[in-house]
Amino acid sequence: MFYKVALLGAGGVGKSDLTLRFTQNRYVEDYDPTIEDQYTKTFELDSHAVKLEILDTAGQEDFWHLIDYYLQQREAFILVYSIADIDSYRTVQQFAEKIKNTLGTEAPVVIVGNKKDLEECRKVHEKCEDIIREFKYSAWMETSAKLNDNVTEAFHELVRLMWKR
Ligand code: GDP
Ligand code: MG
Repeated sequence: MFYKVALLGAGGVGKSDLTLRFTQNRYVEDYDPTIEDQYTKTFELDSHAVKLEILDTAGQEDFWHLIDYYLQQREAFILVYSIADIDSYRTVQQFAEKIKNTLGTEAPVVIVGNKKDLEECRKVHEKCEDIIREFKYSAWMETSAKLNDNVTEAFHELVRLMWKR
């Protein structure tokens, strides 16, 4: 099974570190924020061979122009915010709205609150129930790319949501 997915979210929330952690078990403190790249990862999940092509987007000023292109190219999405950044949570709300309006409520979506290791800096207390309720195949979880906490689970959850469709 082969799926094309994308990570979307504000700059600096950890999209690249989540991608690097999942695909290469790497964590880079200062990964170039302007790099947009595609990674593939093959793994076994629930006795199925799965190949993911993962687009790690990099928010440029024309991002809202590009979003339509991303939404056409990809079939499932990880929307990432940082639990320490309330603006990044609002950006995820906007992405969710855009996905709903463009692709409909059957698009598989995992909402990820990254940087859960920064509990002392937490600004976002949401469990994203409002967004989750809007989509038929959706989930929310908190992760730490830094500590490798829940990262694999987030990608696996997205695959399982695609299977449920
Ligand atoms: P992107 O712009 O969304 O791709 O974000 P990056 O992956 O480049 O990460 C931005 C910054 O956040 C970097 O300095 C990372 O070291 C840091 N970062 C990423 N993930 C985590 C995490 O889980 N915990 C903490 N504390 N910092 C993180
Ligand atoms: Mg990046």
